[in-house]
Amino acid sequence: MSPSLESRHAVYAGSFDPISLGHLDIIRRGARIFDRVTVGIGVNPDKKSLFASEERLQISKQVLAPFDNVDVVCFEGLAVTFVNSCGASVMLRGVRTLTDIEAEFTMSLANRVLAPEIESVFLMASEKYTHISSTLIKQIAEMGREATAKQLADFVPQEVIKPLLAKYHRRSA
Ligand code: ADP
Repeated sequence: MSPSLESRHAVYAGSFDPISLGHLDIIRRGARIFDRVTVGIGVNPDKKSLFASEERLQISKQVLAPFDNVDVVCFEGLAVTFVNSCGASVMLRGVRTLTDIEAEFTMSLANRVLAPEIESVFLMASEKYTHISSTLIKQIAEMGREATAKQLADFVPQEVIKPLLAKYHRRSA
């Protein structure tokens, strides 16, 4: 490992569109393992996201404010390049299913070729959050009616609910 990289600094990169209770669980657990966790919100102009990168950043900052050793930033380009630019040596990932594991395994091998000094560390999703994905959250917000805010509380942090519903139902804003 390069002496300039911090071995106790991990980067958790993703789209966080929006940040979910599953993401939060991985961040909470990562923050107990590592001295510092940087959450990297990937900005991909070619990929349509529900929330603009600035919105994802603001919401994630609110959600993660209670964590002293967690910071949030946006990044463009390859995740490994971002990890390197942070001076971190670990890429933190969460895995929910066997499909996730397969995809993450291939990705980590590619990342190892690109940046051999960076280690990928995988945390298994907690069973109560395994079913949560950003796609499912958006479907519930879009299709649901009166009880949606209460239902969404099982999927996303409180700070996400209002802005999420506002994306689909104008009068919820
Ligand atoms: P999503 O797959 O929901 O769009 P991201 O692309 O933002 O989420 O994923 C970032 C990281 O978080 C990935 O390692 C992904 O496997 C992990 N992750 C996503 N949802 C969960 C969850 N419910 N529990 C644990 N890890 C998760």
